[in-house]
Amino acid sequence: MRYSPQRESILKIVRGTDTHPTAEWIFSQTRQEMPTISLGTVYRNLNQLADHGLIKRIFDQGHVRYDGTTTRHDHFRCEICGQIYDFNVPLEGIVDQLSPAPGFQVTEYSLDITGTCPDCLSRKGSTHHATESRR
Ligand SMILES: [Zn+2]
Ligand SMILES: [Zn+2]
Repeated sequence: MRYSPQRESILKIVRGTDTHPTAEWIFSQTRQEMPTISLGTVYRNLNQLADHGLIKRIFDQGHVRYDGTTTRHDHFRCEICGQIYDFNVPLEGIVDQLSPAPGFQVTEYSLDITGTCPDCLSRKGSTHHATESRR
């Protein structure tokens, strides 16, 4: 890849957040530094960065998001706020159980976990109390 200041600044933005942003969000951040950049340019650079393994694409409910952390890790998606959290599952003891039958070799795996994040859990809790106290 030839050096491009646009791509450099897009890479910095994606790596500078752990929120797994969409192209639109990255576009709005990039525009603060480069007001003339177009959404098409942002998409093209995101594709190049992902194709070269500098960032990762995440497919989240039909939307593409981008991840600046390229080392192996897993994702927890909150079904209430939609936020994606990073976590690592230790490989020991798990990989063996991922084979469909003896004789298969696992080279990669990904876990996709959905649930409720602590923020939403506590908000849920407080709404619950509010309903109770109104009775
Ligand atoms: Zn949440
Ligand atoms: Zn991630």
